[in-house]
Amino acid sequence: MRETKNNYNLEQSIRRSNELKEDALTFHEFVKTLPDRATVQKQTESRKKRILEVLGGTEVDWSDWKWQLRSRIKDSNMLALIIGLSDLERKRIDKVSRHYRWAISPYYLSLVDDDYENSPIYRQAVPDLRELDPGGSMDPMNEALTSPAPCVTRRYPDRMIINVTNQCAMYCRHCQRRRNIGETDRHACMEDIKMALDYVARNKEIRDVLVTGGDALLLSNKMLNFILAELHRIPHVEIKRIGTRTPVTMPQRITPEVVDIIRQYAPIFINTQFNHPLEVTPEAKLACDRLIDAGAVLGNQAVLLRGINDKPFIMRKLCQELLKIRVRPYYIFHAKSVRGTGHFQTGIEQGMEIMESLRGHSSGLAIPTYIVNAPGGLGKIPIMPNYLLKIQNDKVVLRTWEGKIVELENRA
Ligand code: SF4
Repeated sequence: MRETKNNYNLEQSIRRSNELKEDALTFHEFVKTLPDRATVQKQTESRKKRILEVLGGTEVDWSDWKWQLRSRIKDSNMLALIIGLSDLERKRIDKVSRHYRWAISPYYLSLVDDDYENSPIYRQAVPDLRELDPGGSMDPMNEALTSPAPCVTRRYPDRMIINVTNQCAMYCRHCQRRRNIGETDRHACMEDIKMALDYVARNKEIRDVLVTGGDALLLSNKMLNFILAELHRIPHVEIKRIGTRTPVTMPQRITPEVVDIIRQYAPIFINTQFNHPLEVTPEAKLACDRLIDAGAVLGNQAVLLRGINDKPFIMRKLCQELLKIRVRPYYIFHAKSVRGTGHFQTGIEQGMEIMESLRGHSSGLAIPTYIVNAPGGLGKIPIMPNYLLKIQNDKVVLRTWEGKIVELENRA
């Protein structure tokens, strides 16, 4: 055994390093099976060109969020022209759309690759016949019973939600708030927003307000500014949060004007929803950069979705890609039993397997909390693998990320 002058064992250290390297290389081998950035970029460019041709849009239009919103694809004939769907596929989409609406921003549709049926982007965006399967509830969170004022949802002692709109850039097929999305786009009226703000002002224990929807950044700049300014004026509101998926589904929304609004009302935390590494594009990065430069703190709330991100390496890659664009993986939500989304649901075991595969294998910064929402609006329940095996008076038995059992002295 070779001892060095610093008294560490070189051979053992090298052996251990090699073990760790092997673990990392298994993941690297997987990453190599994913499409490389240049191929993805090429496919996206060609899809974008086709979308602009079909919609009669220009490059200038593409960068304009209002054009993106106005030009959302919500007609199966239009989608067929862009993607090349069969008649049968078109009819299936039409059948689902008689029950649930759909709309896809041109930008998000441009991310669908040639093998569209297997694309995690396509599956999140385009209606699927399985949405008509029975089962699930329209309101598993009992939101109807946690709303003490118009637009307000309150489930916790010191914080609450103001739901400002039911509009989104895209109507995600897995939406956990499908009940709110309804049939037509509708922002909350000024009277209701004022009543919600008044509720915040009258309840001094509220120190944290989440402005969401739908998608809070679908509001006009004027309305967004009004709500943030009013919250900023309330002395007991310590932080404001914004819920938006626009950095993922329509990053064009993050304009210099919206950024100037956000800059005025720190501290603002913005939570978004990237579900797959392919969503982390240069455009999404630019949107996140702008928000961060305006002082916002960004977090990601992924939803665990069967066939999209339910494989440990995909989720690991997603979390690592997010850190690269300075978005902290915050939550992985276990998909609730929402009517029309059952085909996306996974077992808790898959979530646990993902959490096991993150801890230790990647930095703690890349590890979100896995959350199951209690039915009836009773709040979030964090679920994690068990690392604490036994507590005795004078010792604890623990399990490491690699499954090694260790004992520590416990001073009760
Ligand atoms: S952006 Fe959010 S609220 Fe809107 S449809 Fe998608 S998941 Fe639902």
